[in-house]
Amino acid sequence: MRRFVTMNSISSDSNGSSRPVKKNAVLVDGVHLNGPILDSKVGERFVREALPLIMEEAVLKATDVNEKVCEWQSPEQLKEKLDLELRDQGETHTQILERCRDVIRYSVKTGHPRFFNQLYAGLDPYSLVARLITEAINPSVYTYEVSPTFVLIEEAVINKMIQYVGWQEGGDGIFSPGGSVSNMYAVNVARYKFCPNIKEEGLSGMPKLILFTSEESHYSVSKAAAFLGIGTKNVCTVPADDRGKMIPEELEKLVQQAKNEGRVPFMVSATAGTTVLGAFDPLEEIADICERHGLWFHVDACWGGGALLSRKHRGLLTGIHRANSVAWNPHKMLMAGLQCCAFLVKDQTGLLQRCHSAQASYLFQQDKFYDIRYDTGDKSIQCSRKSDAFKFWLMWKAIGTQGLEERVNRALALARYLTEEVKKREGFQLLMEPEYANVCFWYIPPSLRNMPEGPDFWKRLREVAPVIKERMMKKGSMMVGYQPHRRFVNFFRHIIISPQVSREDIDFVLQEIEALGRDL
Ligand SMILES: *Cc1c(COP(=O)(O)O)cnc(C)c1O
Repeated sequence: MRRFVTMNSISSDSNGSSRPVKKNAVLVDGVHLNGPILDSKVGERFVREALPLIMEEAVLKATDVNEKVCEWQSPEQLKEKLDLELRDQGETHTQILERCRDVIRYSVKTGHPRFFNQLYAGLDPYSLVARLITEAINPSVYTYEVSPTFVLIEEAVINKMIQYVGWQEGGDGIFSPGGSVSNMYAVNVARYKFCPNIKEEGLSGMPKLILFTSEESHYSVSKAAAFLGIGTKNVCTVPADDRGKMIPEELEKLVQQAKNEGRVPFMVSATAGTTVLGAFDPLEEIADICERHGLWFHVDACWGGGALLSRKHRGLLTGIHRANSVAWNPHKMLMAGLQCCAFLVKDQTGLLQRCHSAQASYLFQQDKFYDIRYDTGDKSIQCSRKSDAFKFWLMWKAIGTQGLEERVNRALALARYLTEEVKKREGFQLLMEPEYANVCFWYIPPSLRNMPEGPDFWKRLREVAPVIKERMMKKGSMMVGYQPHRRFVNFFRHIIISPQVSREDIDFVLQEIEALGRDL
């Protein structure tokens, strides 16, 4: 049983704590309850000390072209440097600020103008400030009651994105924690639309469902099939052409073949901007096939969606307006901070809500005093949810559609420049003409240049990119990714996104690859 003791006029602190005991102090189980124990002055001082450090180290130095992109350490070395152990006694502010400094120092600087390693890069200041605000406010976007501002902002951003997808009548959507999760949403909503009983009955009694995506699609489509109990064997991979685009004739053949085998096609997931090659599937032709066979048409535009904001390049996604759903990550080409991923559906009848809602009575009370249509959280598969739309909204507000369009156009113009340089320079060979911001090429060191392109050549070329990668990481001068892909041995995949990148950085990359790999 708890003992409540009200101590009138006790002057000494019997608990040994340094906090003075006030009049009317309440003690429960020996713990003083008057006033907070987190001293707001101490907390304030710490935040005030940390902010300039963040500004100096994680913003200014991290984006300075004269600083390193990464400070490579082996996991063993890094464990020692970071002193990871959590102890009984806390540390002083000075020590904690040193911890912060170390974490920043040994982190990869993804905002650095020579970070070309991933499908995101750069640091947008508006998106950063939006993130600082949401981290400070700590909102969870499930109800209007808890997140009035962020609920309305998310709705506005989704409507604007829908406009760029081209759904004249509107649609619906939700921000999700990753494009992979958006693709899972797509599979789940498509299946629910096809067999609404599944929500209550589960998998037993379901027909033998099969979905279609190209061999170049993102691995999250397979993950979705595994996660949702469809099974990876029931993901039919449609062949792609040499450029990495799904071949529509092959799709139609495979759909027909599956039907003949008594399997039940329900969805096609096309890709607008594939992860490795940056290829765009022919959306109009795929839409025709989906219409003929009554299949849900999903477009994974996680990477390529950014092009929708460019009048010059939106033709890459011609036909996207015919999709039933779209996954689009503004944290990639458009530089909203990680994570910022929209899942959009054309449906306006509340399909997203019906598919996922659980109507928790402690959150989504039906007798609230305001319009409960703004309690949008039940569309989501999550409970707590970050306000990812805000950083995109603030950035869009700040630079306008014009600014976003200019960035996309510039990234693609730089990709074109890199392509031409690769073609011009001795020792570099392009895999294929890029459609988007993925420029894929080999570096061929002088020792291989006069070899015939036989098995021996390819075997030795395969070993070049990993060594150059190791050297660039250890030097910290830049980061460019490499991978083998289908019939191609290890090649560099150079991604261009950030407006902080300039022609000089592109020239630097080619010179640096040459300098690091000349002796191989
Ligand atoms: C990046 C990417 C995804 C996955 O997005 P995450 O946010 O990393 O989960 C899905 N599809 C494509 C085509 C992508 O490029």
